Amino acid sequence: MLRNVTTLRDPLVQVLGKKTGSKLAEVFGLDTAGDLLRHYPRRYQTRGELTSLSSLRENDHVTVLARVEHASRYPLHAQRWDQANRQRERLEVSVTDGTARLTLMFFGRVTLHMRQLQPGVLGLFAGTVSSFRGRRQLVHPEYELVPQTATAQGVAAELAAEYATEIIPIYPASSKISSWAISRSIGMVLDTLDVGEDLLPEELRAKYDLWPLELALRAIHRPEDRSDIAKAQKRLRWDEAFVMQTALAQRRKAAAAMPAVPRPPVPDGIAAEFDQRLPFTLTAGQERVGQTIAHDLSCAYPMNRLLQGEVGSGKTVVAVRAMLQVVDSGGQAVLLAPTEVLAQQHYRSITQLLGPLAAGGQLGGAEHATRVGLLTGSTGIKARRSALMEVFTGDAGILIGTHALLEDRVQFNDLGLVVIDEQHRFGVEQRDALREKAAGARPHVLVMTATPIPRTVAMTVFGDLEVSTLAEMPAGRSPIATHVVPALERPKFLDRAWQRVREEVAAGRQAYVVCPRIGGDAPDDAAGDDADGTDAASDGPDAADGGDLDARETAGAAEARESGQAGNEERRPPLAVLDVAPGLADGPLNGLRVEMMHGRLHPDEKDRVMTAFKDGDIDVLVSTTVIEVGVDVPNATAMVIMDADRFGVSQLHQLRGRVGRGQAPGICLLVTESEAGTKARERLDAVAETTDGFRLSRLDLLQRREGDVLGATQAGRNSSLKLLRLLADEELIAFAREEASALVDADPHLTAHPALQEAIVLLLGPEGVEFLDKA
Ligand code: ADP
Ligand code: MG
Repeated sequence: MLRNVTTLRDPLVQVLGKKTGSKLAEVFGLDTAGDLLRHYPRRYQTRGELTSLSSLRENDHVTVLARVEHASRYPLHAQRWDQANRQRERLEVSVTDGTARLTLMFFGRVTLHMRQLQPGVLGLFAGTVSSFRGRRQLVHPEYELVPQTATAQGVAAELAAEYATEIIPIYPASSKISSWAISRSIGMVLDTLDVGEDLLPEELRAKYDLWPLELALRAIHRPEDRSDIAKAQKRLRWDEAFVMQTALAQRRKAAAAMPAVPRPPVPDGIAAEFDQRLPFTLTAGQERVGQTIAHDLSCAYPMNRLLQGEVGSGKTVVAVRAMLQVVDSGGQAVLLAPTEVLAQQHYRSITQLLGPLAAGGQLGGAEHATRVGLLTGSTGIKARRSALMEVFTGDAGILIGTHALLEDRVQFNDLGLVVIDEQHRFGVEQRDALREKAAGARPHVLVMTATPIPRTVAMTVFGDLEVSTLAEMPAGRSPIATHVVPALERPKFLDRAWQRVREEVAAGRQAYVVCPRIGGDAPDDAAGDDADGTDAASDGPDAADGGDLDARETAGAAEARESGQAGNEERRPPLAVLDVAPGLADGPLNGLRVEMMHGRLHPDEKDRVMTAFKDGDIDVLVSTTVIEVGVDVPNATAMVIMDADRFGVSQLHQLRGRVGRGQAPGICLLVTESEAGTKARERLDAVAETTDGFRLSRLDLLQRREGDVLGATQAGRNSSLKLLRLLADEELIAFAREEASALVDADPHLTAHPALQEAIVLLLGPEGVEFLDKA
């Protein structure tokens, strides 16, 4: 069948035939011509410039451009009875990039290869790198010869130079389909391509100097020079950013179109009285964000706001004020925390701050007081029943808790505001589940995070939220000094660390010692351990802890492999609370009041320990990462983190945020056995160098794959980012967001932009679009 035009929508099996089409679908998930054209080259190679062979890594599937140096054939030693192998030989071809060498191995009938791979010939060779007797080799590589020189083909000599600079695209390939087979398929599509309407509006292209789609697609696959590649990539990056931002703008608009009950502030309610009771003055940031939120809550459409702020910047107070505004106007508010420890702390501090305002209906309660309920997986039956009842009747204006809040039995009288603390511990599902608990209209939503993320990541991951940031710290905060303690190289430093802890305690202050593991279990159960392995079974909340740690442990393991630590020698299991605490109590911290905190403790015990620590009845708390988020004990000024290299950058920053919350300066000591110069040590040095959470989160992101960040949020998105880099393309993403919002404001259903609409459908998949339709 002769096709004269190929559109982006055409199925590949139709354009390329069943065999190639289904192979591309199977290996790379490419179904349409558009999919294939967005399978971009991984890199480009100029004919004159050979692939550096010394950089090849074992087990990688590679495509290299190299020159044949020599080839020799040897008989295979077939057994006499092995007639079939009589004719078999081994061919060893050595190829070079001019300095390093790589061996190509062929077995069996080798004559044809021998004839083709003449010394001096240039070829693309593809295969998986292996090693034999210390030499790197490709066994039975696939290859394609590259015509050597222009003159050899009888072309005039002055063309030779131009020919030598011709650019060869190298595609992500596999053993099932080679880079040049992909290149050929793309060539076939390009030959008959008609992209139709451009998904980027013309004015936008003109404004940002962007190529038309068709030109960009042709240039990225068949560039004439390097500047073509850059221009094509710029345009195609815009596609990715713009389509995503348009989808998010539609989502925001759809959410804003839903009805919500306005909860305007009242002049002399609980909120106003609470403000007067506050033992401190709000920071300018708290005031400003507070005003924004007060305004949001007064609107007839739901607030969807992300409040991000440095650890200790005082987000809780902002949330409490919002909750009280809702209570004042007759509604209820719910606060979801990721761990039992944090939920309990919130409960304690909020009821304490509210005082008589939280004793509604009780003796000594203020006149228009409300009640505050606490609900976690371990709340006893009686307490649970009364909390559920108070919430159901509306007597309790505020409910605080963990995952237990999500259960069906939890029913509100009139839920007006959902607050989610430490948002990064939750998924969108939890947000939605709580939101569903409002009858009729949608509740307002405030999510908080102390894991600051760069603006563009926020725009993408939380793109359907408005973002507020608390930049400054409350006055009177003390700086935290952080030092790396190399336990192996300088054992004296570790002694000194314990000495410092003793000094703090002698001065009337307290300390944390953090370990990666609980212990008392199988020694190799490193990841599963933590923190809240056991809690996970009994109570949802801390499952988030365990899961998180799991992921980070894996990251750590990968890194260890990279730096060559694992593999040859087993890493010892990380230090455990159950071992470290008695060791310290009988050793360097002898005589101090040392206690333990971890997820496997009974919830009542957790509560007792945290209260005792807060009251100053414990000097040193040896803990897992259960205290990572939110825990607020201003008198604790020192933190020693054992095996600090086992934690992620953001996690260390969070942990360290537990100290330096009061008048006295904080000190954080990162104890590690990792050696100077390793990646692990570099990370620790970075944490020691700065207390700027935003800088650290960038570092964290750079070390992780961005896809992982996105992957955790909404399905479908991760596969859509090919060229766009959230960090490197910050400016572009910001522009795209601005333009997308304007476009959606003018044309919410994209009636005038069918190609853009189609791209969004492809990006979001059917469920995502349904979400938009529901609105
Ligand atoms: P985070 O933003 O990390 O959640 P918190 O809300 O836990 O921080 O606040 C940390 C501590 O700072 C709390 O003890 C809180 O009472 C206190 N705090 C909050 N705002 C102020 C302020 N404006 N001035 C002084 N202390 C404040
Ligand atoms: Mg907090």
